[in-house]
Amino acid sequence: MSSVGIIECKSYDEADVKEAFRVISTPFAEEKAQNLKDKSVVIYFDFPLPHLTVLKEVIEFLKKSGVKEITAGTSIFAHNLPEEYKNIFEKYGIRFVDFRKDRYVKLTVPLHTEKMPDHFRGFGLLSPVQYSKEKQIEKMGIKGKRTLKNAFIPITIVDSDYIVPIVKLKVSPVSTLGGVVNATLSLVPTMTRNEILVRKLKFGEFENALVETYALIKDRIAFGVVDAVQGDLTADEELDKIGAILFSEDGLALDSLSAVLIGYRSRDVKTNKAGDDMGFGAGLFAHVSLYGDEFLRFRKELKNLLKYGSKKRRRIPTITDPNDKRIEKIEFACPIGAIKRTEQGYTIDKKMCFGCMLCVELLPEVFTID
Ligand code: SF4
Repeated sequence: MSSVGIIECKSYDEADVKEAFRVISTPFAEEKAQNLKDKSVVIYFDFPLPHLTVLKEVIEFLKKSGVKEITAGTSIFAHNLPEEYKNIFEKYGIRFVDFRKDRYVKLTVPLHTEKMPDHFRGFGLLSPVQYSKEKQIEKMGIKGKRTLKNAFIPITIVDSDYIVPIVKLKVSPVSTLGGVVNATLSLVPTMTRNEILVRKLKFGEFENALVETYALIKDRIAFGVVDAVQGDLTADEELDKIGAILFSEDGLALDSLSAVLIGYRSRDVKTNKAGDDMGFGAGLFAHVSLYGDEFLRFRKELKNLLKYGSKKRRRIPTITDPNDKRIEKIEFACPIGAIKRTEQGYTIDKKMCFGCMLCVELLPEVFTID
C-alpha cells in the first residue's frame, strides 16, 4: 500500500496553493522531511510546465526541510523555458540543467519479479527441462524478466540524493496518462526514448520498457507532486479546471490516482498495471490508500465531465502544414523515420508509422490527431 494525498485547490492564487500544499505535505513533513536535511535534490518536470506557484511551493518546502542543494531540470522543452521560471531559479540560487546537454550514465535495468501468469497451475504440468529451469529461477527469487537491458539517465539525476518529479495532470497520446512514469520519457536521451517507443511495435512491451526505465529512478523519489489545479486533458479550458493538488512518495501511486480521478480505471493505463505487476509501486488503485479531501466528490464531478473510455485505436497523426520549418527538428525524433521529406513538403509514411505520438507530443501545433 502506498499513500497518496489529494487536496482541493481551485486557483493558482499564491495563498490558495500555499495552504493546499501545506495540508497535503503535512504527513511527509512530520515523518520524513528530516531525511532531506543536507541532501541534494533535483526537481524535474516535463511539458506542459507545472504552474509557477506550485513550483515555488515545492522549492520553499525543500528549503524549509534544510536541503543542501536544489537543482532543477527538464529535457525536450528546456530551450523554451519562460523567463519567469528562469527568474525563480535565479532567485532561489537553483542551478537549471537542460538534461539533453547533461552527461548520461548507462544503467542496467533491474530484473524484476513478475506475477505468475493466470494460467500457471504449478510445476506439475511442466516438462522435466522446463521444471528444472523454473525451479532454478524460483531459487533465485526472480523470474528474470527484462525488456530493456540498459538505459541512459542524466548524471545530475544519478548523482543526486533525491529527486522530486512535478507533473501537470494531462492525457498523453503516447501512454494514455501523462503522469510520473510517462515523464521518464522526457528525462532520457533520444536513443533510450526511441528504444522504448519502438517497443510499441511489439505488443505489450512499450509499457514494460517505460516502467523498467522508471524503476531506475524510482528509489530516489523523495515525493512527487501532480499539479491538477488546471489540467491539460481537453481542448476546453473550462473542463480542465480540475482544482486539485496530489502528493505521494510513490510515482506509480500518483499515476494510479490521477487515472481514476479523470475517469479511467487505474489498469486502463498500461504502465500502471505493468508497474504494479513488477512490484515498482502501487499502480493499481486497490493498492493505494488515500488521505486528504473528498476524493469521491471530485471523481463524480470529473467523470461526468470527462467521460474517457478504455478503448484505444491505432491513430496516425496528420501534418497541418507540410512546409512548417519546425518539422525539420522533429523529423529525426521519429523512432522509425516515418516522417519523410518530399518535394511537396513533409509527409508521414502511413505504413511505417506505428502511432507512438512522439511527434504530436513534441510539436502539437503541426502534428495533430482527430
Ligand atoms: S510519425 Fe509520429 S506517431 Fe508515427 S512513428 Fe513517427 S513519431 Fe511516432
